[in-house]
Amino acid sequence: MEIMAQRYVRVQSPDGHIYYGVLQISMNVQVLDAPPWLGGQPIDLNLEPDSYQILAPCSPSKIVAVGKNYADHAAEMGTPVPSEPLIFLKPPTSIVANEAEIRYPRTSQRVDYEGELALVIGDRAVNCTPEEAQTKIWGYTIANDVTARDLQQRDGQWTRAKGFDTFCPLGPWIVRELNPGARLQTFLNEDSKPVQSGCIDEMVFPPDFLVSYISQVMTLLPGDVVLTGTPLGVGPLNIGDRVRVEIEGIGRLENTVAAR
Ligand code: MG
Repeated sequence: MEIMAQRYVRVQSPDGHIYYGVLQISMNVQVLDAPPWLGGQPIDLNLEPDSYQILAPCSPSKIVAVGKNYADHAAEMGTPVPSEPLIFLKPPTSIVANEAEIRYPRTSQRVDYEGELALVIGDRAVNCTPEEAQTKIWGYTIANDVTARDLQQRDGQWTRAKGFDTFCPLGPWIVRELNPGARLQTFLNEDSKPVQSGCIDEMVFPPDFLVSYISQVMTLLPGDVVLTGTPLGVGPLNIGDRVRVEIEGIGRLENTVAAR
């Protein structure tokens, strides 16, 4: 039997307190006194499943995302693979938790899912080599880089298309280890056939290279998030859809699409 990886969560109790913790098999949360990447230690507080709401597993100062980092996705967009990582920002206000709603903007007629592996930075990263960058990656979670494709094409840059509130589902938890060949799949509604299915080792620029590259541009802070790009198969979401991104060894991130 496979031993389940330790799952690090961020939760809110009914009185509004936000806690970092470890999700136990019982679904109780063992609370930590700080984010685990800052050395948080267990305290004498254990939350039962009906006494917390799951939040996105970190609260980054920024989300740095990477475009066209899988060759088959670059091809489906009709563009070549970039010769160096193509980076852009999503605002932290775009983050929503597992099971939260993605709200469809009134100004778009074409909103796409993009299932992605997310890296969580554990330590300040400035001008890192790829070797140093690997040590700055504290763990891994799942993201959906939701994109208003029509606005992305119209604007010529991506701030509006990628930046709407609710356009970055993230979670449900962080794991520290990941199989380098883990499969990433995206599913829509009840369909058992994935709309996206790729292996994370098919990335053009791997995680250590991405973190190194970004750290030459901007300081990455503990809790920051790097989205590593999406594989082949992006496509539209409609109001009422359920979208689920799964990564082997992490879990599943599931959200519904609602009118704004
Ligand atoms: Mg993307």
